[in-house]
Amino acid sequence: MFARPLIDSTEFALNGRTLNGEIAVKELPRLAELLARLDGSIRYTVRGMQTDGMLFLLMDLSGTCHLCCQRCLEDLTHSVDISSRLQLLEGEDLTQDDDSDEVDGIEASKELDVLGLVEEELLLSLPFAPRHDEGLCDLASKSFGKADDRFGMLAQLKNKF
Ligand SMILES: [Zn+2]
Repeated sequence: MFARPLIDSTEFALNGRTLNGEIAVKELPRLAELLARLDGSIRYTVRGMQTDGMLFLLMDLSGTCHLCCQRCLEDLTHSVDISSRLQLLEGEDLTQDDDSDEVDGIEASKELDVLGLVEEELLLSLPFAPRHDEGLCDLASKSFGKADDRFGMLAQLKNKF
């Protein structure tokens, strides 16, 4: 087990620090539960920023993971490309949530779990009911099927042309 990166979020933002890393999706248990396959990894960059007296963490996530198509239950490759801006808030500011969707707030912490934050952002970004594009479910399931099915698909394709 490797050490999870922890940052002092306020110090990190005040000093404009940057943290880069890559995490295998299988190391993110809440995400892994939703996946069809556990290969793939996510690259992340966290940058601290101070503007107008407010502190922010900017997160960029990219990579791929494998969701389960809700129509055919086969592997669906999902590209991750997320940029988000999180405002650091102290305890009392958190309670007066003004419901603005522009910026999400997170509680400032001396030991902020960066991977926990990465996982949270990934979970929020996943489609509620992922599906292959129209017409592509058959192809996804047949390509994992038996040889017979493949011949069946070839026949279908020939009929189309
Ligand atoms: Zn499908």
